[in-house]
Amino acid sequence: MRTNTGQIIHLEDYRPTDFVLERVDLTFELDPKETKVEARLILHRREGVDASAPLVLDGDELVMTGLLVDQEELAAALYDVTDDTLTIRGLPETAPFEVTITTMLSPETNTKLMGLYRTNSVYCTQCEAEGFRRITYFPDRPDVLAVYTVNIIADKKSAPLLLSNGNYLGGADMGDGRHFAAWFDPHPKPSYLFALVAGDLGVVEDTFTTLSGREVALKIYVEHGKEPRASYAMDALKRSMKWDEEVFGREYDLDIFMIVAVSDFNMGAMENKGLNVFNDKYVLADPETATDADYANIEAIIAHEYFHNWTGNRITCRDWFQLCLKEGLTVYRDHEFSADMRSRAVKRIAEVRHLKSEQFPEDAGPLAHPVRPTKYREINNFYTTTVYEKGSEVTRMLATLLGRDLFKKGMDLYFDRHDGQAVTIEDFVACFAEVSGRDLGQFSLWYHQAGTPLVTASGAYDAAKQTFTLSLEQTLPPTPGQSAKEPMHIPLRMGLLLDNGAEADLSSVSGADITGDVLHLTERKQTVVFSGITSRPVPSFNRGFSAPINLHIEQSDDDLALIARHESDLFARWQALNAIALANLVSATADVRAGKSVTVERALIDGLIGAAADDRLEPAFRSQALSLPSEADIAREIGADNDPDAIHAARQQVLKAIAVAGRETFLRLADEMASKAAFSPDAESAGRRALRNAALTYLVHGEDKPARAAEAFAAADNMTDLSHALALLAHRFPDATETAQALATFRQRFADNALVIDKWFAVQATIPGAGTLDRIKTLMTEPLFNGNNPNRVRSLVGSYAFANPTGFNRADGEGYRFLAKQILDIDPRNPQLAARILTSMRSWRSLEDVRAGHARNALKEIASATKLSADVSDIVERMLK
Ligand code: ZN
Repeated sequence: MRTNTGQIIHLEDYRPTDFVLERVDLTFELDPKETKVEARLILHRREGVDASAPLVLDGDELVMTGLLVDQEELAAALYDVTDDTLTIRGLPETAPFEVTITTMLSPETNTKLMGLYRTNSVYCTQCEAEGFRRITYFPDRPDVLAVYTVNIIADKKSAPLLLSNGNYLGGADMGDGRHFAAWFDPHPKPSYLFALVAGDLGVVEDTFTTLSGREVALKIYVEHGKEPRASYAMDALKRSMKWDEEVFGREYDLDIFMIVAVSDFNMGAMENKGLNVFNDKYVLADPETATDADYANIEAIIAHEYFHNWTGNRITCRDWFQLCLKEGLTVYRDHEFSADMRSRAVKRIAEVRHLKSEQFPEDAGPLAHPVRPTKYREINNFYTTTVYEKGSEVTRMLATLLGRDLFKKGMDLYFDRHDGQAVTIEDFVACFAEVSGRDLGQFSLWYHQAGTPLVTASGAYDAAKQTFTLSLEQTLPPTPGQSAKEPMHIPLRMGLLLDNGAEADLSSVSGADITGDVLHLTERKQTVVFSGITSRPVPSFNRGFSAPINLHIEQSDDDLALIARHESDLFARWQALNAIALANLVSATADVRAGKSVTVERALIDGLIGAAADDRLEPAFRSQALSLPSEADIAREIGADNDPDAIHAARQQVLKAIAVAGRETFLRLADEMASKAAFSPDAESAGRRALRNAALTYLVHGEDKPARAAEAFAAADNMTDLSHALALLAHRFPDATETAQALATFRQRFADNALVIDKWFAVQATIPGAGTLDRIKTLMTEPLFNGNNPNRVRSLVGSYAFANPTGFNRADGEGYRFLAKQILDIDPRNPQLAARILTSMRSWRSLEDVRAGHARNALKEIASATKLSADVSDIVERMLK
């Protein structure tokens, strides 16, 4: 286990390496327990570096069996090996030299899934962020770019397939039952983009002809027999390649592009040059086993990894502090891709829901950090929604500020100027400052200041003067290590809606710059006066969620309802409905805690049912309108002293009231939206399924018997409908015989499909209420559970901790104690997985005192364990600080 030294890395300490790496030749002799790796590094001392400076290479859990410099064995006095370094002295002053290192690895016993490991008998690597140092001693940092040649030798029968980055050079039979293959990647790359895969896999093949007419071979490797389930991924890949050419002018740059699906993977997928490795959950899909959400995820992640070829691989990060340079930008690109493939407004709603439910809590809790952090202890813990999702939002704001054409110009300059380099956020922003002539200094604070800005707004209409005065104020709450903050440049897209649904002209304004419908909020307090406003307007703020902020404005339900009906921006309509719902759910929660009966506002009922019934709107949008804020959304809005049981009870009552009031509409929709045609995963068909299932949800909540849900379960002919019906049964009627039967049927039917069984675990892990913990303990003894597989652990333990507010936050603290035990159990095997699941407790301080006390004790129990990994100890210590 990587020792928990507590050492902190600081951005300001960045220095280039003393030695320049020119070339890397790797030879792997693969064996499950005794893989031999020979690494030949060609290096030279950087100009100006002291002749006595030693070469210091990184390593992690390595066994070195050979070390040569220029083919000669090195005297013991000239090198040192520690737990995590190899230091070599006495190297040439100017001439290039060659270091040859031999290491022995045991892929089979590598349970951390970093470096070279085995998954279902396939050899596979994961090197980002610091996994290459688990393969050989190396300058394992992203600013060391080199050209790689890779030779792979393996048993021919068990590993007929030998893959690495770049283009295939050739191979041969070795006559002894083994064979070899050689690969050459002409593009200089950092070690984190290295990949090797070897094993026996099936393949789906296709080709893509690039903009300039080059033919690229496309291959997706999956377990034998699963080939038909890779066709949607292949289709998404081809659409991604085409889109990146059309929208960003980016062409693919090798003869072959490969994707390998593996079943043991810590993350979603990895963008290794020319050889992406995927968690199979983001490759495999067919109507019987994948939901519409699975299809959408596959499309987005295939695109994301492919887009990294330019944003991440051709231009990479100087150091890991710059992670958002590749991740935020690439998420922005995949969001835009999906918006072009599907409904833009619906996609935006889904993005904002995700941002608010995952990133906002992170930014409001003990793990808050800037999009571009300045220090870290364990880089694995910085693959966060702040770096990814908020990083994407910052890129989006840049595009909003500059407008489409200048943004495109800035991107072109970035690609042009920095191709082949490892750069910083400052380099990126400079491209946009240069093409626009703008000072982006204040805007850059978005990268440096953590926390979600709060904007409060109030408006006053003066009928005599025909003016509308807006008083705006921004505040940025303190976050760990940052107490005082500067005001930010917040691009707020807005409109002033008039009674008749028309929009006021915004051009006659003082107190703020407005371009198009973008109001530039740059001061702590700003008073903005619009003139020529002929009747009292209703302001609609943050159209399209132009800035990732919390907005507080006193607005009546009537005004919100006007926005919900008349806004030209569909996202803003949804936002207004959501605001009505959230306010009602917060007051309902207070009612429940006060022992009063819950009031459900007419505006909420009418707004939701009105949107649901509006045939002019697309079904996917209507389903989003119907979906109430989650229990976590309500908790976040309340902010402190939260009682998850009260929130749950309040939400259930509101749901039921809407169900009763809208019964006719929901019956009609359940019928109308039923599909007569064969299944198709396209966005429109998915939207109809979503609306039908939303209607069913209400119908089932308005009834006391499980019959309707059980019927839906029996009638379902695709996984979207089937898993939805199963969740309705399990969550609404956990103890009904219908539920037990459905769970048993589902298990039996899909027992040999691990990805579907994950849904079965997750649905049970998220049953509300205190009783679920016992169910989970039983499920952990189930033969289909496997504590070594990350997907399985996430589906059971992760779903419970992240997505079951009442079940996990039991008032007696048993949920937290259970989690602590699981974390300590997982940590020695797979620290990354343990640390990630532990972040489910990031909002513990916003719970009421009794639960918060139990949560603190559970965290302390973890913190006091002997032998914690750096990953878990970093998270737990920040959470307790
Ligand atoms: Zn990425």
